[in-house]
Amino acid sequence: MFYPKNSLKKLQKLVPSKLLSLLQNIHSSLLSRWILNYGSQPLTLSQKSVMVFSPHQDDETLGCGGMIAQKRAQAIPVTVVFLTDGQGGIGSEPDKNKVIQIRKQESLKALDILGVNAANIYFLDKVDGRLQDLDEQEKQQTVNKIAELINLYKPGEIYVPHYKDCHRDHEVSFQLVKVAIAQTKITTELLQYPIWLFWRSPLFILLKLSDISPAYRLSIASIKEKKQQAIAAYSSQIKNLPNGFLKQFLNLDEIFFKTLF
Ligand SMILES: [Zn+2]
Repeated sequence: MFYPKNSLKKLQKLVPSKLLSLLQNIHSSLLSRWILNYGSQPLTLSQKSVMVFSPHQDDETLGCGGMIAQKRAQAIPVTVVFLTDGQGGIGSEPDKNKVIQIRKQESLKALDILGVNAANIYFLDKVDGRLQDLDEQEKQQTVNKIAELINLYKPGEIYVPHYKDCHRDHEVSFQLVKVAIAQTKITTELLQYPIWLFWRSPLFILLKLSDISPAYRLSIASIKEKKQQAIAAYSSQIKNLPNGFLKQFLNLDEIFFKTLF
């Protein structure tokens, strides 16, 4: 078959990325299904207060939206802290300030649906995509700010993306929060949520069994619609996600990994 030169180029670009998405979709489904069916224990919703650290405006809802909604339905305090300003999030919009504002508004709307009041939402406004580039001073300032918030709210549970989440902002978020918790000396549980872990890790890194254990599954069946609505509030984000990616977050369970200090 004859393809004009430009179309051929387009096709070459298109096929590998579509194929990649398809492979990632399959890997991700298999891995999460295996964890849900064989590699996890059920988690009972505790009465402990919560602080969720989210690198970008959407990670908290995708990874923890069901947990947040269930906690809030029982009037358990939930605080959400966004580490970056999200400015890298909308490819087609050149005005970074506009992007930041759109994503902030979307996060306030999503969290309102999940039952979190704006007074319990913090934006640390670090530059999106650059968390690993913080110099020593900025890093210490960020850790201090995180520690200050933890000391203020004394959450019984802290949620942060998985330490091998295959996204640098996400992995650095884990490190910053872990150092901050040690600085506070409060007793809390640190739970890790997967965002890119299942999607990217099978192809690019080898996961050790110890990386995905101990895994827990929290049933979110009772508030699934609410989580769906909150995800829909991130309209600027969901249209840019790879095919099949969102499906992972619409399961009847959320997966968390307990951190063993
Ligand atoms: Zn993110």
